[in-house]
Amino acid sequence: MTVHESPFITEPLPPDRVDTLVAALLRVLSPEQVLTAKTDRWNRARVPAPFPVHRWSERVPDVVVLPASTEQVADVVKIANELRVPVVPRDGGTGLTDGAVPMRRGIVVDVKRMNQIHELDLVNRTVTVGTGINMLKLNERLAAHGLIYPDNPASYPCSLVGGRIGTSGWSLIGARYGHTRDLVLSFDHVLPTGEVLHVGDGIGRKISKSSSGYQLKHLFMGHQGTLGIATQATLKLFPKPEAELSPFWSFDSYDAAYSCVGALARAGVATFAGAVLFDEHKVAYLRRDDEAYIPQPADVRALVCAVMYGYDDEVRAGGKRLFRIAREHGARYLGDEISEGDWAARHDRYATPLHGRTKDGQVIPMSWHCEDAAVNYSAVPAVTKAWHEIVADLRRRSDVFDDWGVFAYTSGSTGVDYLTEIDVGIWEQRLGDDAWAAWVQAKRDIAAVAIAHGGSISACHGSCREGEVDLLPQELGRGFDVMLDVKRALDPNNIMNPGKYLLDRAFEVTSP
Ligand SMILES: Cc1cc2nc3c(=O)[nH]c(=O)nc-3n(C[C@H](O)[C@H](O)[C@H](O)COP(=O)(O)OP(=O)(O)OC[C@H]3O[C@@H](n4cnc5c(N)ncnc54)[C@H](O)[C@@H]3O)c2cc1C
Repeated sequence: MTVHESPFITEPLPPDRVDTLVAALLRVLSPEQVLTAKTDRWNRARVPAPFPVHRWSERVPDVVVLPASTEQVADVVKIANELRVPVVPRDGGTGLTDGAVPMRRGIVVDVKRMNQIHELDLVNRTVTVGTGINMLKLNERLAAHGLIYPDNPASYPCSLVGGRIGTSGWSLIGARYGHTRDLVLSFDHVLPTGEVLHVGDGIGRKISKSSSGYQLKHLFMGHQGTLGIATQATLKLFPKPEAELSPFWSFDSYDAAYSCVGALARAGVATFAGAVLFDEHKVAYLRRDDEAYIPQPADVRALVCAVMYGYDDEVRAGGKRLFRIAREHGARYLGDEISEGDWAARHDRYATPLHGRTKDGQVIPMSWHCEDAAVNYSAVPAVTKAWHEIVADLRRRSDVFDDWGVFAYTSGSTGVDYLTEIDVGIWEQRLGDDAWAAWVQAKRDIAAVAIAHGGSISACHGSCREGEVDLLPQELGRGFDVMLDVKRALDPNNIMNPGKYLLDRAFEVTSP
């Protein structure tokens, strides 16, 4: 298939329909909340990577709105539903599965003005915020009270609470504090018809364990904006940890590092917040091209980092145990400077174009892309190997791609839920239709490997993009049909983020 036949392409709304839409929006929003200028619209069509820059113009919204309250969001959605115009929620725009890209144009609802702290409950340790708030800013405010909201993705400074809900994200310190789904207690949610409901465990805003009725909170998380817009959320808080320990260890072999990361996780140390394994390709990439990294000698083949948070005395005791386990697996400690520096750099790696290499070794600017999957610990080596083969094949065919290695991240003290990710450098300026088609096929193959090993296509980013999304029905089986039923029931006019997750199939007319 050439990209010009892509089902994702939609023409912009004709000018008279844009005029009608804007006039209707101006009845519920002020003029500065309704943006129609080209730059305002184009900038809200961009996502991190890899972006088919040569096809940017196909995905530009007709209008952008900046609502300031749940009521305004509800009004906008009602108008969209009435006029049958697509609506796409956008928070930080850092999602890696094109979730916030307006595939069918229409209205982008940018929620960044809804960034207030509405209530801080110091007794029950919760905070209620607009979903346009950023975790970094929120934690700056919470620090004065000795508290943190520990949802801590690598995109911590730039992703927002609403986007975390829309993707049901993964926190790098989730083994200690849980992930977004555990940390968001409840939220106000605007349905595709414009009705507002509150979802949580039960109806309480500050309850995290209820057995009353369906567990709707989980339905309205991770849907990539296809079932509505979260506007105000109540979050769970924790004491700000006194101590952080983030030792980095090197290994002579991948096998030793792999066996070590499993042992560290299984140790069950209470302050353990996560451990990550970098394979040979990742170490080679860091050594070669990551300026933030202090290069390791050639005999270093794999790395493991463990992270602990808590009171000073408990972190010291847990750390001692983890150091002993690491030594038993042949680890060499890289020292405080690398350990602390590398962990501190976790929030600002990858956001900008980096050095990459053509297959002949030429240095070129590349943007970072990753394919993430959830797999069991036991499957990590086989998945890693198969993924490298797929990217090696891609590289044989094109100079546009580079293999930046695999990492695997534990979520707790068992072998379930390893976030396993292959990072691929992409020379975006050189992406053309052929390279794009090859990339889309590689994404399909990468997803197929995860499923074949009993995993899920995505641990945190979602699986909406061209390529990977084709395997969603295979992964979910009958569950995919239920998704279609839910979509049809809640969004009868298919206005909420259409073109994602193959949900258009819910509206296909079948011949009798
Ligand atoms: C450098 C970098 C590092 C990253 N590291 C991580 C990581 O460690 N862990 C991780 O989980 N992810 C990571 N990501 C991916 C991304 O940051 C997450 O998916 C994040 O949750 C997206 O948040 P956002 O505010 O940018 O959302 P957006 O990109 O704006 O939106 C994401 C999806 O949610 C929908 N959405 C947005 N707002 C709402 C709302 N209010 N209500 C309902 N749906 C909504 C959108 O339509 C879209 O489908 C990383 C991304 C980058 C660029």
